Amino acid sequence: MIPYGRQNITEEDIQAVIDALCSDYLTQGPVVPDFERAVAEYCGAKYAVAVNSGTSGLHLACMAIGLGPGDILWTSPNTFVASANCALYCGADVDFVDIDIDTFNISIEALKKKLEVARKEKRLPKVVIPVHFAGQPCEMEVIKDLSEQYGFYIIEDATHALGSSYKGEMTGACKWSHMTVFSFHPVKMITTGEGGMLLTNDAELNRKIALHRCHGIVRRTEDMTSENRGGWYYEQIALGYNYRMTELQAALGLSQLERLDEFVSRRAGKAGYYNKMFSDLPVFSQIVVDGAISSWHLYVIRIDQTGPVRDRRYFYDELRKSGVGVNVHYIPVHLQPYYQRLGYKAGDYPEAEKYYEEALTLPLYPDLPAACQDLVISHVERIINQ
Ligand SMILES: *Cc1c(COP(=O)(O)O)cnc(C)c1O
Repeated sequence: MIPYGRQNITEEDIQAVIDALCSDYLTQGPVVPDFERAVAEYCGAKYAVAVNSGTSGLHLACMAIGLGPGDILWTSPNTFVASANCALYCGADVDFVDIDIDTFNISIEALKKKLEVARKEKRLPKVVIPVHFAGQPCEMEVIKDLSEQYGFYIIEDATHALGSSYKGEMTGACKWSHMTVFSFHPVKMITTGEGGMLLTNDAELNRKIALHRCHGIVRRTEDMTSENRGGWYYEQIALGYNYRMTELQAALGLSQLERLDEFVSRRAGKAGYYNKMFSDLPVFSQIVVDGAISSWHLYVIRIDQTGPVRDRRYFYDELRKSGVGVNVHYIPVHLQPYYQRLGYKAGDYPEAEKYYEEALTLPLYPDLPAACQDLVISHVERIINQ
């Protein structure tokens, strides 16, 4: 089976992990801060905090802005459940903004309309989490303008989008947001097995993220609430978690980061090839907006409902039978049973639901052999033309 995504691991990566394993520290050593500095520098942000998953990163970002009961978080329904769950972890409410059927990202028009209504009803969100779906940055400049107009925070769910840019700014630079979250799950742009990172330019947000990553414990005298009683002494000043990344993971991440630009360009080349080969077929590719350069974490097509084969499930099953490991990203979050119990229902976000019925994720990763990609394309053609 040709998978839809796969990590790229070299001898250098393996050696980096072995070196970390044989060093004095397996956790809380020098490699995690090195990795943090390297990612911050790559993206052009002031601060970076490594964590044990993208999900932990989203949780810490919500904690850093003080999200809590009575607050509302808005995100896209076309995302992994973690982008919404982080609101619930904090006791806040979650709501969704429908997507744009062409970009697969949050719809700016829908966002503007929903904000107007929310202002009248006095139910404005405390934070909006735009998701850079498949690696395509959302229209951040507009979202930033809206955030100033309506007074909400912006946390970028950039778990797909390390290595992408918008209007010349790397995703993670946080030029149009308060914080950005990356994931290093194996299918994502670079991997640490499990892992994530939070970037910001705000010293106070950075302090809170670092505090809550490690139990809410401080060790520096200036951070303590009472006197320092000796070298052993530490204080817990808030309720945090253990969301730390290990040295082994950071060593792998640091080694992977060196190849990130190469990964992005290889993915872009293959995505461009799919786009070209599908241009005359009854399928739609993701439209990339002006100014955005995607990292192409995923390659998704929508099946044209006026074409000869409309049934996504049939496509999915046929491709799987042919050894093509297709997938579907995403089942709209509000259709999950857990969210249905919170009161969401089918029909709430029609564009995301229509998109979901038509969407199919095809294999795309840096090492996808050209022959395998041609095979995928020929199977898609065969299914359409049979
Ligand atoms: C992968 C992913 C996450 C969570 O990242 P993990 O590192 O797996 O916890 C969050 N949001 C989106 C959109 C993702 O794809």
